[in-house]
Order: sequence, then structure tokens, then C-alpha cells
Amino acid sequence: MTEGAVDDNISATSSSLRILLVGKSGSGKSATGNTILCRQAFKSKLGAQSVTRTCQGETGTWNERNILVVDTPSIFESKAQGIYKDTGNCCQLCAPGPHMLLLVTKLGHFTAQDTMAVRRVKEIFGAGAMRHMIVLFTHKEDLADESLGDYVAHTDNHNLWLLVQECGRRYCAFNNLATGEEQREQLVELIALVERLERELEGSYCSSDLFLQVEALHRGGYSDPQEAHRQYLDKVRQQMQKHRQETEEEEESDWALKAFHRVKTWMASHADPELQNFCLGMAEPGDNSLRLILYCQRASRKRKGRGLRVVDTPGLFYTDKSLGNTYMEISHCVLFSWPGPHAILLVMQLGRYTEEEQKGFGLVKAIFGEAAVKHMTVLFTRREQLEDHTLHDLLEADNKLKGLIKECGGRCMAISSRADELRWKLGCGS
Ligand code: GDP
Ligand code: MG
Repeated sequence: MTEGAVDDNISATSSSLRILLVGKSGSGKSATGNTILCRQAFKSKLGAQSVTRTCQGETGTWNERNILVVDTPSIFESKAQGIYKDTGNCCQLCAPGPHMLLLVTKLGHFTAQDTMAVRRVKEIFGAGAMRHMIVLFTHKEDLADESLGDYVAHTDNHNLWLLVQECGRRYCAFNNLATGEEQREQLVELIALVERLERELEGSYCSSDLFLQVEALHRGGYSDPQEAHRQYLDKVRQQMQKHRQETEEEEESDWALKAFHRVKTWMASHADPELQNFCLGMAEPGDNSLRLILYCQRASRKRKGRGLRVVDTPGLFYTDKSLGNTYMEISHCVLFSWPGPHAILLVMQLGRYTEEEQKGFGLVKAIFGEAAVKHMTVLFTRREQLEDHTLHDLLEADNKLKGLIKECGGRCMAISSRADELRWKLGCGS
């Protein structure tokens, strides 16, 4: 059998390579399934409503290897109906778990619904599913003369960029209308990518807890199959709720990566050529060979047996500098605090919440995202100026400042730089 040729006269076996198609409706999942199997196995059509109504598994071979392709209806949309039933079916079809998840998206149209689809995948299968994901762009013909690599490298779509990073830069493109040699070539490319990932994962598959429920259902030996299935769907719902909560927690923690990308994108589009060169040559987070000019400073110490790293910034968020320099310095402080600080201290002088500070706070939010505010505490210096008043009195007298503290979840404190008071406040002992 030639490379990429498919024989459909087989059924799924436990040794099959299991591929799950995920993504928003209309992105081309069913058409992609047909390209992979080289036959019209799935119904694929453009329409206001997805023509794929239920999960469907179809088989074929790749280079004498059995494959199973599972197509999905609209389970990855925010207002999907019957999601537990569809997810339950999907898990039964690709049990004990898919080796690959193909996130199908239309080239040049990565929208909020695609981002939602990625989120739904995590909510359903857990964040671990991303290790098995490959991004598959349909409508490859729209690339014209540009290479896919250039398209992805130069995208100004934050969410697409983040997805590609999260998927370990595994992506490829299909023109699902292609036939003959063109169809064969794009399949060969996908197979190479799939085999590379398989080697990296040492043959493991996406073994989400959901698939354990399928196993339990098969093992159960229930006298009432309907009741058994109802209980199975109940377990599916519980697992999905757990994954949803984990996804929410994780989203909060990856804000530093998002901030880094915002900085990079801003600099690539706004900064002067010298800064642009710096920015484009800037290593990705986690690259240990990174050498940066020290605009920001950091220092570490041990406190109660735990490492404490403090990153100081030279008044970055105040707008007397050019925005280009500010962004560059912010990118350093993001990298210094990689993979993201546990706490951000917004330090300001007591009684000095002027327009300048307000702009600075706006910039922090624009760059680090709203999630960063959840990690922020406002720290007022010159506490001694409070004299007989309390911080509460100060906030009552200034609505804007009160608004800022409210956004920061009420976290604020005042310190005095007088050494004895500071020592007492931090509980450093004598
Ligand atoms: P699904 O809802 O994600 O399963 O999307 P479908 O497979 O039903 O595809 C939606 C429409 O997009 C159909 O009309 C397909 O023919 C079309 N389509 C899918 N992939 C491609 C492609 O690579 N090129 C072009 N031109 N059309 C495509
Ligand atoms: Mg479909």
C-alpha cells in the first residue's frame, strides 16, 4: 500500500491509532476526516447549522496501520446542547483515549469561537489533552504564496499564537478539496507530524479520567444497561465539572505568557527598528541561554525555608519614558518573574494617587491582563504620614483610590521605611 493510502475494509482494534477531531462547527472537521480516510466517511457541508449531529467513528489504514477517526458534533461551543450525552458517546468511541486530537480551524479565521473550542477541549478532557494536540488549518489554498510557517510566525492573533505555543508548535494545513498528488502530499505531512508526536509521547494516549468511566461501564456487568448508561453519563458530568474548575485555575496562572506575547506583539508593530530587532531576537520564555540587559533588578533570599525572589522595576509604569522603552522593560520583568509572580506589589506614595498613577495602573492591566489584578496588593509608602488616621479614613476621602483598592480585592497596606517599623511589619525578628 502506498504512503497515505487508506483501506476502509477494517474495524477499529485496540492497537489502532486513534484520532479525535475537535474544533468549532464549520471549521472543516468532517471534511478533514474524509481527507484522512480518503473517502466520504463523514457528512460535510456548509450550513447555518452543523450537519454533524452525533459522534461518529470510522476506520482506515495508514501504511498498513489501522487508524480510527472520530468526528464530533458541536460539543466545543459555549451553548452546546446535550453535551454530556455527546461527550459520553465520544469517549466510548475513542476509548481508552485518543492518541491525537486534531484541533481543526479555518486558516485566517481564528475567532473567539475557536478559542472557546480550545477551552472546551480542556474543560472536557483536562489540560493534559493539549500534549496530544495538533492544530490543523483547513482552506490551505488561501495561503497563496505564503508558507504556513511564515503565516503562523507572523500572526498578530494572540490567541492563535498562544494555542500554537501550547501545542508545542505542532501544526499543518489541508486543502480538503484537493485530490490526487496534492491530497497525498498533505496526508504525508500530517502522518510525519503524528509519528513525531507519537515518538515524543512514547506511544502514550490522552488518558483522561473520562475514559476510566468507559472502562468501568464495560467492566460493570450491570443487569440494567439503561441505568448503567445513566450512571455513566452522571460520572461524565462530574469529571467535566472537575476539569472546568481546573481550567479556570490554570487560566489564571498562565497570564505571564500572555503578557509576554502582548509585549512582543506591541513592540513588533510599534517600536523603532532597533527595538524591533531586539524584540524579534528575544528568546522565548524558559530559554536558559537568555542574556538580557539589566533594566530591571532582582534579588533572592530565603525566608522561612522558602525561596523568595523580588523583581524591582525602575518606575516602569509611569509614563515619562517612551512607551517603547517601557514595553521593553516590562518584557524583562515578565521574564525575570517567570513563570509569573505570586504577588504584584503596586507601590505608591501615600496620598499621591494622581493621573500619572492611574495611567500606570491602566497600563499594568493592559499588558498583564485582568487576571494580574487578582495577584495585586497596593502598598503605600510613608505610613508615618497617616499620623492618627487609618488607611480606611484615607480611602473614604478618595473615590478613585477606593475604586483601585476594590479592584485589587481590598488588598492594601502601608509601610514606613523607618527600619524598626518595617522589621516589625515583616515579622523578621530582631
Ligand atoms: P465541520 O462542521 O467542522 O464538520 O465542517 P465541515 O467539514 O462540514 O465543513 C464546512 C464547510 O467547509 C464545507 O462546505 C466544506 O466543504 C468546507 N471546507 C472544509 N475544508 C475545506 C478546505 O480545506 N477548503 C475549502 N475550500 N472548503 C473546505
Ligand atoms: Mg461536521
